[in-house]
Amino acid sequence: MTDTARIVLSRPLRQAFDYRIPDGQTVMPGQRVRVRFGRQQLVGLVIATGVTPPEGLSLRPLGPPLEDWAALPDDTRELMSWAARYYQHPLGECLFMALPPALRRGQPASLPTETGWRARPDADPDTLPPQARKQKMLLSWLKQQPDITRESTIRAEGFSLAQIRGLHQRGLIDTATPKPPTPDQAYLDSLPQLTPAQQAAYRHLPSPGAFTTTLLYGITGSGKTELYLHYLQEHLGADQQALILVPEINLTPQTVRRFRRYFGERIQVWHSALNDTERLRTWLSIRRGDPAIVIGTRSAVTLPYADIGAIVVDEEHDSSFKQGEGFRYSGRDLAVVRGQMNDCPVILGSATPSTESFHNARTGKYRLARLEERVGDARPPKMTLLDIRSRPLEGGLARPTLQAIGERIERGEQVLVFVNRRGYAPVMMCFDCGHMMDCPHCDARLTYHRRDRALRCHHCDYQRAAPTTCPECDSEAFRPVGQGTERTEDILEAQFPETPVIRIDRDSTRRRGRIDQLLATVNDGTPCILVGTQMLAKGHDFPNVSLVVAVNADGGLFSVDFRAPETLIQTLLQVSGRAGRHRIPGRVLIQTCHSDHPLLQQLCEADYPDIVDHLLSEREALGLPPFRAMAILRAESRDMADSLAFLDHARQMAARDGLAIWGPLPAIIARRADRHRAQLVLVDERRSRLQRTLAQLCGTLDQSDKPAGLRWQIDVDPIETG
Ligand code: ADP
Ligand code: ZN
Ligand code: ZN
Repeated sequence: MTDTARIVLSRPLRQAFDYRIPDGQTVMPGQRVRVRFGRQQLVGLVIATGVTPPEGLSLRPLGPPLEDWAALPDDTRELMSWAARYYQHPLGECLFMALPPALRRGQPASLPTETGWRARPDADPDTLPPQARKQKMLLSWLKQQPDITRESTIRAEGFSLAQIRGLHQRGLIDTATPKPPTPDQAYLDSLPQLTPAQQAAYRHLPSPGAFTTTLLYGITGSGKTELYLHYLQEHLGADQQALILVPEINLTPQTVRRFRRYFGERIQVWHSALNDTERLRTWLSIRRGDPAIVIGTRSAVTLPYADIGAIVVDEEHDSSFKQGEGFRYSGRDLAVVRGQMNDCPVILGSATPSTESFHNARTGKYRLARLEERVGDARPPKMTLLDIRSRPLEGGLARPTLQAIGERIERGEQVLVFVNRRGYAPVMMCFDCGHMMDCPHCDARLTYHRRDRALRCHHCDYQRAAPTTCPECDSEAFRPVGQGTERTEDILEAQFPETPVIRIDRDSTRRRGRIDQLLATVNDGTPCILVGTQMLAKGHDFPNVSLVVAVNADGGLFSVDFRAPETLIQTLLQVSGRAGRHRIPGRVLIQTCHSDHPLLQQLCEADYPDIVDHLLSEREALGLPPFRAMAILRAESRDMADSLAFLDHARQMAARDGLAIWGPLPAIIARRADRHRAQLVLVDERRSRLQRTLAQLCGTLDQSDKPAGLRWQIDVDPIETG
């Protein structure tokens, strides 16, 4: 039938729906259309035309299209359809995810042209009154920009609309229509020369115009970013688009700025802090085919590129590339699939590549480019283990640690202290009766936040005021136990009253632009102590940091999650990588209660590739990924018995030769926000066979009876296995 269309909806439904195309109307796959669904008017996305509907069904007429072009071009649709099959997620949700929120809601796919601004040639920042400090900063900044700067770019730099308007009213800046982005040749010509080691690695990067995946293993500070810049400059056509996938963009404004310096307004950013208008604007620009270089977090891989010439995934090992809820895709892995679909080279870069990618390089699926020297005189930092078993601690810090910090500060250098927990202390405990404060909704302790005297659950929204005495026995010996960033901050402030202590964690950086302000002090180079979580490990370049301290690294040594050792090593190497990046030699002190643990010993003695080879041989012996394909079926409900019974049923449905099934077992945090969680792990040597089993299983489970409130989900290539 030629006058039919099959559409999907933005709903968690595995079905598609057929409609009749009214006379005189034409639609094409990828187009948004209005449809009547039950009693509702919804936005549908056409996935096929001329389909034969199930017999005996009289079709409703399709509503009008929202625009006369396909919102999702063929290749993006193909990518999302592939992902829907691979991750066993409903196609409708996958396709709609590739649209910006405004278009999912049915708003028009157009926006008025964005305003741009430029400083008047004669405008002088010094004529501004002292109280207009931010306006002055903005004007100075605008004067440094090569041409017209888009309003969104100005906002992304941390300036507000009020400041822009202020300068406009004073007649110091003009509004102008931003020019279509073009690379700035003058800047490109000023890219630094690659060092001999960089040149050698550069020669191993892929040729343009064809799909290959290259793993760039480059130690921290070896100049990987510089290689990306050179690569884009040399190989990206003036009309082409490129994608640079990064873990968490708002944490690394420096990286964006570095790219913008060379590529100017051609750089577009994509991350979760954008509002709906900003998202729509960027999406439309990509869809139109503007020659953008997108720096974005994982979902940037789903943008509707018109002609993509290069894909880079920076810090490819980072777990934030994998979505942890709902559509659990890996942005990194989709980037490789996209490269294949678009005949486009893919570069995966990291100082600590994932075991998966290393394995792919070892087996010849990926090419390997190695860069094992730091730029200039910088040397990789020296790592030392400090066993704290029988040492007195000062709020978690040993004497020798405090001494080492003191020495660095004395010399005018900076220190970074890595603590793997935010808040003041992970537990409140009564020293008389032993009572500990648990979350009433989760199997987890409440974290004490001293700045606002609150107890918070880090697994749900629960919070309450911290009691001053034990709620069980009324004892006053009710105290925080263990180490969080706030507590370390307090200790360091008391120990080094003259030195600024800057805390960087999710709490201290909640406000937009805040992390930038905090990092400004660090980038000044003045002696200071940085205290923070993993956030500090990610891609920062702190020239003056010469000592890194890891306060409590042992958690990952004994976890039931088979990925924990890998993650621990990666985190420690990444934080360590912040030390000694320039002239000052760096040192890393790892406080541990297990200095004889082979993994920590290896960390100090062996190269990362050797450690990974070791981890890989363990995985092979145990039959774990990447040697076998893995998926987890998770269930949660109001009652653990229901969750387990459901998974038992699934286990029976899935059982067959060649498939290993582990569980069902309660999750590590078995109760979270009053939901009881359990899981079933499925492992098979052959991925395609596992895929078929999963698809069948989804079909069966969709049809089967379930207790009210039970939810289930499949996680393919899980990264959390607890
Ligand atoms: P990575 O991404 O591998 O951590 P970066 O690209 O950030 O490393 O480089 C580390 C530092 O060395 C940066 O400050 C960068 O500006 C500088 N750098 C990199 N390559 C060169 C080069 N060829 N010449 C001069 N400086 C360089
Ligand atoms: Zn008590
Ligand atoms: Zn909770």
